[in-house]
Amino acid sequence: MSFTLPPLPYAFDALEPHIDARTMEIHHDKHHQAYVTNVNAAIAGTDAEKLSIEELCKNISKYPMPVRNNGGGHYNHSLFWTLLKPNGGGLPTGALAEAINAAFGSFDEMKTKFNAAGTTRFGSGWAWLIKNSEGKLEICSTPNQDNPLMDIAEVKGTPILALDVWEHAYYLHYQNRRPDYCTAWWNLVNWEEAAKRFAM
Ligand code: MN
Repeated sequence: MSFTLPPLPYAFDALEPHIDARTMEIHHDKHHQAYVTNVNAAIAGTDAEKLSIEELCKNISKYPMPVRNNGGGHYNHSLFWTLLKPNGGGLPTGALAEAINAAFGSFDEMKTKFNAAGTTRFGSGWAWLIKNSEGKLEICSTPNQDNPLMDIAEVKGTPILALDVWEHAYYLHYQNRRPDYCTAWWNLVNWEEAAKRFAM
């Protein structure tokens, strides 16, 4: 089995003004495509070809760095697109909203901690809201294309929200202003998708 680039579930310009069309086009068609191409080359002829991308991440310590970087890149971006939507944002509801209040005290407190995880991640990486093995929510960040599914991750769990803080995700529009990008991203969050992931 080889991995394929999933189509973007909306148009390149659908997330404007928060994420510009050119950034979306390059990010999806060039960056994500490169992770797919490179992970397929890295696993060709190995037993990893039998695994789903989730299974590959969960066993990533068994594979060399190109599999970790590009397999992580494929998983992370596939998730990132689905957790965004045009006219998203607002507030979570139901069980996810309750779990956020239980873990962080309030939605605003969760948002502050999540933004801090994104803005203080040095260099390239991701900020995450995850559900840990006890079913509780936690915030963490990972370097490069690592993610909390990976057996090498410092903090492990199921991703509920994912924010790409690589410069390629925001530099054309925001230049060095990563905090502005992190703030604007909340206007795009697909809470229905996040709630589905939380219920899994
Ligand atoms: Mn990216």
